[in-house]
Amino acid sequence: MRRLLDDGIVREDRTIVSGPGKPRTVLELEGNRLVSIGIHLDPSVLTFVAMNLRGEVLRERRIEVPNLEVASETVQQMATTVKELIAEIRVPKKHIVGVGIAVPGPVNVEEGVVINPPLLDGWADVELVNPLRKLLRLQVIIEKDTIASAVGELWQSKEEKTDDFVFVYCGHGFGAGIVIDGDVHHGSSNNAGEIGHYSTGHKSVFCEECGADDCLASGTSYEFIAAKAKERGLDLPAYEVLGPEQRAEGMNRLTELALEGNAVAKELVTESMVMAAEVAGQLANALDVREVVFGGPQWDKVSELVGEDVDAAVKRRFGLRTVHDIDTRTSTLGANVGAVGGACVVMDASLSPKATALLLR
Ligand SMILES: [Zn+2]
Repeated sequence: MRRLLDDGIVREDRTIVSGPGKPRTVLELEGNRLVSIGIHLDPSVLTFVAMNLRGEVLRERRIEVPNLEVASETVQQMATTVKELIAEIRVPKKHIVGVGIAVPGPVNVEEGVVINPPLLDGWADVELVNPLRKLLRLQVIIEKDTIASAVGELWQSKEEKTDDFVFVYCGHGFGAGIVIDGDVHHGSSNNAGEIGHYSTGHKSVFCEECGADDCLASGTSYEFIAAKAKERGLDLPAYEVLGPEQRAEGMNRLTELALEGNAVAKELVTESMVMAAEVAGQLANALDVREVVFGGPQWDKVSELVGEDVDAAVKRRFGLRTVHDIDTRTSTLGANVGAVGGACVVMDASLSPKATALLLR
């Protein structure tokens, strides 16, 4: 405690005298002194934030369509960017609590390994935590991006806070974060929230992974969307070999066209988001939550276009509507939600019992 006082992380706020015995000193955390770094590895965008204990983002950095072909190079790039961010915010290194990386699932959190994320070719069994720890000499933690996003949402949504919700992460794929009784559900292997292979009821293409022909992943894949676009007279970029960069470029082009007012592009974007919403409605129904929160980089771009259709789809698939309402809302964290979530995860881990329960001023 002395060290925390000396470092200016905790200060003596006031003294309480109640009854006999030694007066108690109330300690208050200096929320702006401690900083954590969050990184979000999404196949289409690499995001970094530096966040203080109050949850304020001090600096952010975004690399659109990053080169993710060689995992070891991405790790180097992460380390360099983190060092730059730390230098820019001018916080002494002893006040940096660590780095939290939000990554697409499935993950092995204990070993710090990315297992085999579906849209990141070349990222099977990539060790992320140990190399970054060595390069940065900081605590490094990984968490599945949808779980990290739910942690971030729980930290940050102070006013709109609800204790039970489903968070739908919309990035290059879809995933869910589950919050029950104010706690994020991690699952037995820290991989809860896999909704990619839920059946949507909309026939698309056969999925080799799950054996269905109507799963969310197939119905919202770039391959399928580009084929549908062609049928409807819209040419999207075609590639001979489809890797993460090409898919990201293609999806970005589709989103741009939709935002510019192209009717077919808008239709395709809406159809994808509605499928995710239908799955979210069913999940919300099974969990008996009252709210579905949408966020992530893709949602940030298209929420205005698809908001009403998405809300309607969630409500349509929410069977409990005869018992209570289900609300949908947009995350306050925008495209940074995964990175902020990563920063919150490492803050949570460093400041036990639970930083979310601390009163900050
Ligand atoms: Zn599938």
